[in-house]
Amino acid sequence: MLNKKSIDDINVKGKKVLVRCDFNVPLQEGKITDENRLVAALPTLKKLIADGGRLILCSHLGKPKGEPKPELSLAPVAVRLSELLGQEVKFAADPEVVGPNAKAAVAEMKDGDVILLENTRYRIEETKNGDAFSKDLASLADVFVNDAFGTAHRAHCSNVGVTKYIDTAVVGYLMQKEIDFLGNAVNNPERPMVAILGGAKVSSKISVINNLLDKVDTLIIGGGMSYTFAKAQGNEVGKSLLEEDYLDYALEMIKKAEEKGVKFLLPVDTVVTKEFSKDAESRVVEGSMEPDEMGMDIGPKTRELYADAVKSAKTVVWNGPMGVFEFPKFAEGTIAVAQALADIDATTIIGGGDSAAAVNQLGFGDKMSHISTGGGASLEFLEGKELPGVAAANDK
Ligand code: AMP
Repeated sequence: MLNKKSIDDINVKGKKVLVRCDFNVPLQEGKITDENRLVAALPTLKKLIADGGRLILCSHLGKPKGEPKPELSLAPVAVRLSELLGQEVKFAADPEVVGPNAKAAVAEMKDGDVILLENTRYRIEETKNGDAFSKDLASLADVFVNDAFGTAHRAHCSNVGVTKYIDTAVVGYLMQKEIDFLGNAVNNPERPMVAILGGAKVSSKISVINNLLDKVDTLIIGGGMSYTFAKAQGNEVGKSLLEEDYLDYALEMIKKAEEKGVKFLLPVDTVVTKEFSKDAESRVVEGSMEPDEMGMDIGPKTRELYADAVKSAKTVVWNGPMGVFEFPKFAEGTIAVAQALADIDATTIIGGGDSAAAVNQLGFGDKMSHISTGGGASLEFLEGKELPGVAAANDK
């Protein structure tokens, strides 16, 4: 369990509550194309409203790199959030985030009112955790709530710096839920526990593999990163994604798994093509590929092997697609794994980022126990690192 104070431990009646949310949603021409993160924020916001807090919401959106970029304004979020909450969310359109609009809006607030500040990354200090902006944010509020799991692995003004200037700093329900799910899965799992790792690169998941080998009963590898393992074991992988610098590391991990008695599963067959395109002609290969071929997905035997390996699992953590799932023709392996997780009676946890997108896009969203809202944050958690955004909250 998370040893941090939460919104259940404080009284916000009549208080100005700065809530760091994760409203970093994808936008296309001013329209929100995936509102999962907004929906995920609602339980915390509703609780604070019901308790009579005066809510000042803040978030970053995209990477405006310290200057106002109209296409990255949070204005559309205020509109959609008003609809979702069923009450007005007043947008404070200050390019400096904490400016005359925000201050006037805060001064007029009544209990249960909600305002949203402009994109915190309009301020250059935000990502540098600079004091001036942390103080500005803190000057608006009496209490700070951090519910932005997606940025918890970063130490920025709006999630860490601000806690230097506001004594009461607690976590919201979403943060609590994320840490409880991921924390239980990693540190206190119901066994057998299986981790499935995929995605493009071994290098980005080294520490995750290493840390998880100390925790899991079975580790399953798929996606682009599997070719480095295949090559290390003496197979030719043609033009597939390959990280030559990590061949030794791959062997080390296989050895570590053996020593620990962890079942380590690698693909036994691969769907290969001669070009990286959505309707490239393909064939299934066991063992070595031809020099002009590249791996795009796990093959049918591997899909069966992996589905079988999770059948008796009680806890499964999955991060990273099994192939180039953005091309429907090469999404079969990722679909098969999603289906296998949907079919079992286990706690199933999907790391954020591409795996969450894949599971939602393929229609398995409501079949999983938990889909994390944080890609980078969930990975760092699986690496066993402390998240600064969580550490900054008051201890219980
Ligand atoms: P990551 O961000 O490391 O989880 O990687 C996700 C990306 O890995 C997705 O965009 C996938 O298309 C890509 N990917 C997965 N398998 C392969 C593969 N066999 N070849 C190339 N890219 C892949």
